[in-house]
Amino acid sequence: MSKQRILSGMRPTGPLHLGHLHGALANWKDMQDKYDCFYFIADWHALTTNYEDTSNTAAFRTEMMIDWLSVGLDPAKSTFFVQSEVKEHAELFLILSMITPVPWLERNPTYKDQIVQMENKDLSTFGFLGYPVLQAADIIMYKAHGVPVGIDQVPHVELTREIVRRFNYMYGDVFVEPKAILTETPKLLGSDNRKMSKSYQNAINLADPPDVVSQKVSVMITDPQRMRKKDPGDPDICNVYSFHKIYSPPEMVEQVNKECRAAEIGCVQCKKLMAANLTAQLEPIYEKRVHFEKNRDEVEDIIKTGSDKAREVAKATMEEVRAAVKI
Ligand code: SF4
Repeated sequence: MSKQRILSGMRPTGPLHLGHLHGALANWKDMQDKYDCFYFIADWHALTTNYEDTSNTAAFRTEMMIDWLSVGLDPAKSTFFVQSEVKEHAELFLILSMITPVPWLERNPTYKDQIVQMENKDLSTFGFLGYPVLQAADIIMYKAHGVPVGIDQVPHVELTREIVRRFNYMYGDVFVEPKAILTETPKLLGSDNRKMSKSYQNAINLADPPDVVSQKVSVMITDPQRMRKKDPGDPDICNVYSFHKIYSPPEMVEQVNKECRAAEIGCVQCKKLMAANLTAQLEPIYEKRVHFEKNRDEVEDIIKTGSDKAREVAKATMEEVRAAVKI
């Protein structure tokens, strides 16, 4: 039996960090053996919020591919492509935009949220309102059965399903309705206890060498009530402890929990223990990155081969679409 297909993508808007690793990439890696995976670099989507400054988009695209390969995404198992290398996405987006009612887009919960969150950008554009339609085109172009997403992206997959139903009702059954495959994400905050994000400059990036990782850990905020080593701490409200739970062996997690509450371990020592475990786990990723940074032609070849393969699938889909729409 052939594997079911899944599709997911990321916008190349900056370096990837631990939040991306645990929120998506680790899951993508696990899915490679079970599914026929198509993963794409969503450079047209990067324009929706970064249209004023596109100077780094091409560089971020290559860096993103290097990050993906470094964490173990494998071109022998999955197809990696760049959205703008497959122009068929733009054609399908245009056709879908003709049949998508504007209120469906206006009620998208992330639309209003993002406009508020990014108040320093003018997002009152047609492209920003319509990006879920482009997402729908990205997904259904490959007739993906599933889309691995976090909980906040579920409404987008639901919108895609609605667009598919409308298209199939009007023109005949061309597309399958994709399902959201929910990704469990461990809670990892940035060094300042806010959401880990490049815009807050609080992230541990996948490209950070071990000494930079240790330095970033050393300035992480801990239990704010704990001023001195003799004050008992509460690991449950400490971000360093959240990291321990992911990167340290269970015995150490238990020991830190006990010793923190009994004021038997200081935060400096606790951070050093965690940083050692974190850097040990990131080291293989870092070593692979060094290889791909030296062999950028290999990276570009992987992008080209994947984009060529994706384009073949997209061409076949668009022939069906044009026939169905009679255009
Ligand atoms: S000892 Fe460790 S777990 Fe406790 S507050 Fe300090 S850094 Fe957090």
